[in-house]
Amino acid sequence: MKPLLVQKYGGSSVADAECMRRVADRIRSDYENGNDVVVVVSAMGKSTDKLIALAREVHADPNDREYDQLLSTGEQISISILAMALHHLGVKAVSMTGAQAGIRTDASHTKAKITGIDPVRVREKLDQGHVVIVAGFQGMNPASDVATLGRGGSDLTAVAMAAALKADRCQIFTDVDGVYTADPRVVPNARKLDAIAFDEMLELASLGAKVLQSRSVEFAKKYGVPLEVLTSFERKPGTIVKEISDMEDVLVRGVAADKNQAKVTLRGLQDTPGVAARLFQAVAEAGVNVDIIVQNISEEGHTDISFTVPRDDVADVRECIQNLQGIHFRQDLYDDSIAKVTLVGVGMRSHTGIASRMFQVLASRNINIQMISTSEIRVSVVIDQADSDAACKALHAEFELDKDPIQVSAQEPAP
Ligand code: ADP
Ligand code: ASP
Ligand code: MG
Repeated sequence: MKPLLVQKYGGSSVADAECMRRVADRIRSDYENGNDVVVVVSAMGKSTDKLIALAREVHADPNDREYDQLLSTGEQISISILAMALHHLGVKAVSMTGAQAGIRTDASHTKAKITGIDPVRVREKLDQGHVVIVAGFQGMNPASDVATLGRGGSDLTAVAMAAALKADRCQIFTDVDGVYTADPRVVPNARKLDAIAFDEMLELASLGAKVLQSRSVEFAKKYGVPLEVLTSFERKPGTIVKEISDMEDVLVRGVAADKNQAKVTLRGLQDTPGVAARLFQAVAEAGVNVDIIVQNISEEGHTDISFTVPRDDVADVRECIQNLQGIHFRQDLYDDSIAKVTLVGVGMRSHTGIASRMFQVLASRNINIQMISTSEIRVSVVIDQADSDAACKALHAEFELDKDPIQVSAQEPAP
């Protein structure tokens, strides 16, 4: 059996005809070197953003089904153009939409979950010697309609395809040459990592490092998909994402910033049992993911509660709050000028003192912390968005992330 590669090319790697030809050439060489190749592509350049803007020009809150119908066209342009570019090089190639490739999703339009993949047609075409090109970011829902998988969802298509086909490797080609200790566009001396643990990558991805979509990392971890992030612009090794067991424990692996969050505050909220349960149940039923929650001490039966949500979901949350029955509050506030900045490292499991060092660094830069949240392997703070880049740079410098990492095993735990 030939080795099977699943390769995903992101928007900037397929931005125009020249990029398409370059990507086709790379696929040809991997194919001619004796690999079976399944390619997942994103929409060309910024075309998904353009389609969203177009939809909003005709409707402020477009219908979800039509929105998915529209957005899925971006990837469908890419697959056919790439197939033509491969034909031009004399390579047998066939394009498939998500539905044709057997990708099934649940019913939640615009952020559908993959419920199963039945890649019979993909297998059949591979067996006939074709390169198979699959449209990323889409699948078919139970109503046989096209559903999209949320922004950055082509990464998930690639990982899920790799799992379904038991691929030997899933390669995510992008416009940087791997995963860095911070976004290299924000922190110029960020360092490329040769490897990163699934858990660390998951935290970084879900907290703003958009180099991989977080659900794709979750999926890869769950199904043990061998995952690599690398550049499509040069031939060189990238970053391997793998299980922690064969990695050194490093205190802080990286820093991420998420500028696409908003803070919702309810002031003077009645403080009686069941209020939080009802509030967050309503938000969850609207399909919105809540992250950090902070509740103040109650005074005279009233409290303030703040929580963060993805900025795109603020309108839904506002509607939900305004429709809450039988819950009293004085004021609801929505602030989208925030950023969530996070330090991640598996070494935090066994070491204390990271949070306090982080807070000191921010204090020394006069950066005010609005909210704090921690997990076993991360510390996140919500700050003013205008301070986000400065905070990332300062934290990167404080924890010397530009240098070779300090391995936890070599250190004494802090008191
Ligand atoms: P694609 O279009 O290929 O899916 P994305 O724009 O989604 O690419 O992701 C790549 C971008 O992720 C990079 O250009 C980089 O600015 C950003 N990024 C954020 N954090 C990191 C990080 N820790 N390491 C590498 N890139 C990062
Ligand atoms: N084209 C989609 C987006 O821009 C999916 C992707 O590129 O992964 O979000
Ligand atoms: Mg992406």
